[in-house]
Amino acid sequence: MDRAAAEELDRVDELAPFRDRFVIDDPKLVYANGNSLGRLPKATVERVSEVLAYQWGSRLARSWDDGWLDEAQRVGEVLAEGVLGARPGEVLVCDSTTVNLYKLAVAALDARPDRWSVVISSGEFPTDRYVLQGLSQKRGLALRWDGEPDNDTALCVRSLVDFRTGELADLAARTAADRAAGALTVWDLSHAAGAVPIDLSGAGVDLAVGCTYKYLCAGPGAPAYLFVRAERQEQLESPIWGWFGQRHQFAMGPTYDPQPDIRRFHAGTSPIVGIAAVEVGASLVAEAGIDRMRAKSTALTTLAIDLFDGWLAPLGFTLATPRDPQQRGAHVSVCRHDAAELCARARDEQYLVTDFRPPETVRLGFPPLDTRFVDVWDAFDRLNRAARRAPG
Ligand SMILES: *Cc1c(COP(=O)(O)O)cnc(C)c1O
Repeated sequence: MDRAAAEELDRVDELAPFRDRFVIDDPKLVYANGNSLGRLPKATVERVSEVLAYQWGSRLARSWDDGWLDEAQRVGEVLAEGVLGARPGEVLVCDSTTVNLYKLAVAALDARPDRWSVVISSGEFPTDRYVLQGLSQKRGLALRWDGEPDNDTALCVRSLVDFRTGELADLAARTAADRAAGALTVWDLSHAAGAVPIDLSGAGVDLAVGCTYKYLCAGPGAPAYLFVRAERQEQLESPIWGWFGQRHQFAMGPTYDPQPDIRRFHAGTSPIVGIAAVEVGASLVAEAGIDRMRAKSTALTTLAIDLFDGWLAPLGFTLATPRDPQQRGAHVSVCRHDAAELCARARDEQYLVTDFRPPETVRLGFPPLDTRFVDVWDAFDRLNRAARRAPG
């Protein structure tokens, strides 16, 4: 395929106008790393300015009563409806993914006191592995790498989209299999939310966490989210007994009495500025519609794999991402022994931002709202040049 064919795909792309909704101040740069840090939506600049100038600057502490106290839940509903396929009252925007994973993992372990093993993939995202390693060590649990849950398994931690390969798991089937063994599963949706349709309710998921700065474009350090299925909320207890999880918070009473609902997983004061950015990102996905986004995303990654076959496979690269579009998310990973050097060369000599994942993966993310088909074409053209050490 030549570049003109990619341009033609952009001309008929009904999501193309969404690219204008993002700050893109350097048209020469090919940014294939939106799966790591999504672009800045223009609306976020406005919305955050308003939160700063009016809500904080002008209203000051009165803003807590104006709505700040409920922001974690209110924006949780936006995510639940537009991105996660959850019901009202099941999602909270708070803390980091790591902290939320810790909270839900401990809650799940405490709910299965007679069981003594946990299951996680050895290729899982590092923070997820570390959290489980820490808990296993502190609690004397057996950590089963890559195993299947057994009748002694309390907890499984799984990613819906694998951060390395982009492989998409079967949410409903995997959840059902883990539950059949009597284990609770915490799903990490970090590389899936805003990239693939998610139906937490329909898939029967109990627990999930995820970050907002990848495909949800909420910016560095924006708060993450947690999901607890309504029917599970009263049985599960957060290990962090904070005042935002307290039933009558402002009675400031002597003993902790947790809220009966999702709010019991809220620890401390909400990061209001970051939550405002989460709302903008989640609303963009809701407006574009995740099904339309998925259709375009599939076409983008299909083009990527075609270009891989034409240019990179003959140079000794291998493809880590599944070829079946139903089995992959929105990023594509290609491997060669000199991947680290290639990423650096692509960045420094070809003006292409990707990322390197050890030991030999170049990962290219193509968020469908701001990525054009020509960007995919240019990304592979530049990677091809970097691999051949040809001038740009
Ligand atoms: C990005 C990512 C995280 C990030 O965790 P933070 O606590 O936000 O730093 C966690 N898990 C997975 C699978 C991720 O892809």
